[in-house]
Amino acid sequence: MPHMMDDFPLRMSTLYDQAVRLHPSSEIVSVESDGGLYRSDYSTVDDRIRRLASAIESELDVPFGGAVGTFAWNNRRHHELYWATANSGRICHTLNIRLLPEQLTYIVNHGGDQVIFVDPDLVDMIGPVVETFETVRAFVVLGDSAEGIDLPNAIAYEDLIAGSEPMARWPAVGERDPLMYCYTSGTTGNPKGVAYTHRSTYLHTISNLANLPISASDNVLPVVPMFHAAAWGFTFMATARGAKLTLPGPDLSPEGLVRLFENEGVTISAGVPTVWIGVQEYLAKHPDADVSSIRSFVCGGSAVPRAMIDWYHEHQDITVIHAWGMTETNPLATLSVLKPDMHDWDWEDQLDVLETQGMPVPGLEVKIVGEDGEELPHDGEAFGELLIRGPWVAAEYYNDSRTPQSFRDGWLRTGDVCKITPEGYVRVTDRAKDVIKSGGEWISSLDLENTLMAHADVVEATVVGVHHEKWQERPVAFVVKREGADASESDLIEHLRPRVPKWWLPDRVVFIDEIPKTGTGKFDKKLVRERYADVLGE
Ligand code: AMP
Repeated sequence: MPHMMDDFPLRMSTLYDQAVRLHPSSEIVSVESDGGLYRSDYSTVDDRIRRLASAIESELDVPFGGAVGTFAWNNRRHHELYWATANSGRICHTLNIRLLPEQLTYIVNHGGDQVIFVDPDLVDMIGPVVETFETVRAFVVLGDSAEGIDLPNAIAYEDLIAGSEPMARWPAVGERDPLMYCYTSGTTGNPKGVAYTHRSTYLHTISNLANLPISASDNVLPVVPMFHAAAWGFTFMATARGAKLTLPGPDLSPEGLVRLFENEGVTISAGVPTVWIGVQEYLAKHPDADVSSIRSFVCGGSAVPRAMIDWYHEHQDITVIHAWGMTETNPLATLSVLKPDMHDWDWEDQLDVLETQGMPVPGLEVKIVGEDGEELPHDGEAFGELLIRGPWVAAEYYNDSRTPQSFRDGWLRTGDVCKITPEGYVRVTDRAKDVIKSGGEWISSLDLENTLMAHADVVEATVVGVHHEKWQERPVAFVVKREGADASESDLIEHLRPRVPKWWLPDRVVFIDEIPKTGTGKFDKKLVRERYADVLGE
């Protein structure tokens, strides 16, 4: 006999059913592809989710364990798909709409998707590649009508679910069964897939909820796409808590987001730094905008500028919670929250902590190792590759021969170069492949970027290593200036001079209109390096 109910499976439908039972009237608000606003509640949406689950099984003939693709914004039907697939033992394969066509083909075929659900305004984007999909039998258009839609076997979502009986009981899904395929958005090679299981997602949800300020009285707006690492788990977390969920649809402009914050009373939102930098710009220009309902922005995916955390604290009383994670970690793994004794510290000292990527979420273990694989001390000085393990960290890439490169001795090798402070906060100094090595010395591009972005005239900055005859590589900064600002190259060098070691000073500061971004909104350093390879005139 087990001592406890250890055989009680950690399946997502347990969290789901309880939320619907306890919070039937919690709201779900969604911006539609045509700009309209849909307003509903957990109980009404439950009926739709159950109909959808039946339709996936009976109408679309997707068997238990089969995969359906989604090519969609953050909206209510995408949310319904998340839960209908999870609860019924199917797999939701979220397709990143920003992948290159050949990458899209690769992941659809690799995931073996049987049906793809597409937002109407994204049909033209997927249309040209559907011929290359080998396993897809039909397309479901996320709307009322499939008329005039040029996709093979296209049907309308609303017709599909209208004709189905709600699934009364969820099947006995095993906790180790996958519920989602998430693929990395690497800029080189084919994306690598991670199969999130019920157990891993359940534990990710519970553990992160213990750290994040989300209760049933909150209103959660995930800006981070549902096609990237399950929107960092925010739709699952919101549902599990019975919180109001506000889904922004296709309009992710600062103006669109601020309007939703104001009209819907959003309390917590999550997205990459570029999103919050844009919102900051907007709020600075529109002092009448009222975002006082917001208490926190969770921000990660790339390093969060210290100056931004400071600005939101000072001007909007909003706490920016810096988070780190990877597709391979389900994805939230570290969160920067203060320890109790730190609340009395000076604000600048608190900022020193808040700007780190944070402490591992309860349940995860981290360490840093040198190039020889030896563990390094947590002294805030030594830096090496971050290794991580725990119940919601991938053990492999799904069906992929590249697994051994990233998983060793029970640890995931993150490819991030980090320090860990004596208090246990992880500080990412660079992505291993973005590290700048000049004359044998390491230069942290993230520190340089962070310091540049603290200059009042700088909106965004990225620093990459450019080939140099004598020093192998030298840092070059690429900067987007604030509208109307007149900082010069030498102004920015002088701004850096007292703040970084002398040999770190970039050889050039190049002003550009926009920093190219990857499919998930991170600075595309590979492209910047390629585009400006000759910037030092060699
Ligand atoms: P992805 O799998 O697309 O979510 O990318 C994961 C990678 O994004 C990590 O390995 C880091 O290099 C980077 N990343 C995520 N969060 C942060 C952060 N807060 N600071 C710096 N880099 C980050």
